[in-house]
Amino acid sequence: MGKKMKILSRLPEYPAKELPPPEAKFRDVLFWNPQRLLLFSRATGDYREFETLYRPPGGRWVVRRRIRRGGRRSYSWFEVSEEEARAWLERCGYGQAATRRCVFCGGTDGLEVPYLDNVCVSCMGKTPAGPQA
Ligand SMILES: [Zn+2]
Repeated sequence: MGKKMKILSRLPEYPAKELPPPEAKFRDVLFWNPQRLLLFSRATGDYREFETLYRPPGGRWVVRRRIRRGGRRSYSWFEVSEEEARAWLERCGYGQAATRRCVFCGGTDGLEVPYLDNVCVSCMGKTPAGPQA
């Protein structure tokens, strides 16, 4: 995973304990890595860190990062620039019409779970719990 997989610059910490209702919310996209046998995040390139991108009112962009380390969970909020938000959406494949394929069966059907990039519905039973579990 290169440097480009991560957010490079952050704006000053979003000055709120709670985010106002966002105009848009973009979930992280997960992909199954058959070598590591783990689900990775397209947003962070990591299997322990996952992000959600929010667009609160006022044209700002805020990332919520969830971190899992040794059974511990934490999260942080931070604001990013429009440029970083665009790169984030690109990393996660939003707005792209690429052909997706299941890594288990090679099929292109059953990939309607939007945040699971390369595992089909019928093969999903073989995957471990996602970041939400
Ligand atoms: Zn499959």
